[in-house]
Amino acid sequence: MVDLKSQYERYQEEIDTAVLEVVRSTQYINGPEVKKFQEELEAYLDVKHVIPCANGTDSLQVAMMACGLKPGDEVITTSFTFVATVEVIALLGLTPVLVDVLPDTFNIDPEAVKKAITPKTKAIVPVHLFGQCVHMEPLMEIARENDLYVIEDNAQAIGAEYVFEDGTQKKAGTIGHIGCTSFFPSKNLGCYGDGGALFTNDDELAKKMRVIVNHGMEVRYYHDSIGVNSRLDSIQAAILRIKLRHLDEFAAARRRAAEYYNRAFDGHPKLTVPARSPFSTHVFHQYTLKTKDVDRFKLQEHLQKKGVPAMVYYPVPMHMQKAYTDPRYKEGDFPVTEDLSKRVISLPMHTELDEEQLKYITKSVLEFL
Ligand SMILES: *Cc1c(COP(=O)(O)O)cnc(C)c1O
Repeated sequence: MVDLKSQYERYQEEIDTAVLEVVRSTQYINGPEVKKFQEELEAYLDVKHVIPCANGTDSLQVAMMACGLKPGDEVITTSFTFVATVEVIALLGLTPVLVDVLPDTFNIDPEAVKKAITPKTKAIVPVHLFGQCVHMEPLMEIARENDLYVIEDNAQAIGAEYVFEDGTQKKAGTIGHIGCTSFFPSKNLGCYGDGGALFTNDDELAKKMRVIVNHGMEVRYYHDSIGVNSRLDSIQAAILRIKLRHLDEFAAARRRAAEYYNRAFDGHPKLTVPARSPFSTHVFHQYTLKTKDVDRFKLQEHLQKKGVPAMVYYPVPMHMQKAYTDPRYKEGDFPVTEDLSKRVISLPMHTELDEEQLKYITKSVLEFL
């Protein structure tokens, strides 16, 4: 689905040098590379604070801890997402309240969020799925009216721009109270191991999060709050500094590949190409088609025989996962999510797709149909 090797080879000299420099420096934890990456990401996102951490899942956990959420508090999120979002809510003893998504963008439906609010609701976690932002303005309005935190799960949309109704733009993850992201290797800004970060413009929250990621410790060996051990390695930071300089080029390459796919598939009676939101640019973390009357797993098998990977993100909605079954929910409760989970399929999407590969992939899909 991704070609990390070709991308590495393009920057090999620069990356090898940077990694070796960290090895020789012996400053493996919280070294100068981490601080520099933090500052460069703050500048790129135009946000006051970036707090690096160990992975995207931790970033969600640290965000919820910093907001002071307590067992029993309800957190509203989407039924159509990667498990990490719901996992962290459950792990902290909070109550995940799931709501359905919109059929075009696959993103959380602000109207459904509004209906799910109860006196116990404390936060909303929108997920900018597949590289495109959730419609944030109505969500922020709902949050203001009900005094809720908004924690953006931006693991799939780093670099995307949210487009406000007045035409101004802000980077995904910098609109809510806290933005969370992952630098897992296959993400749009991926390192060579695990990594993550939190973003905020709120000084208080930033201070709390910096303390939480470091064992609740502000002054060494004095622990004022319960924290976790969640740090970004200096080696990963050195790699991320190099890749951050190319993040906008990466997005452009993904967009070019998506446009090629769109030209091949748009208007096909059995396929719907990804919808474009008027509120967001698209950084195509995934290129996801909606199929109609197609056996997706047969299509996947056909593609596999041709050497073309394809994946179903995500085949089982959160309310139908064994670990998250809940008497509050049953099959049929989230009709859009359930329908999507039966119809979507994602094609290879990365920065290294060339015309020849795209031609072969699209031909292979169309010949099956
Ligand atoms: C990848 C991902 C995460 C988790 O990130 P990790 O770094 O793998 O822990 C969380 N949410 C979403 C939507 C993701 O895609």
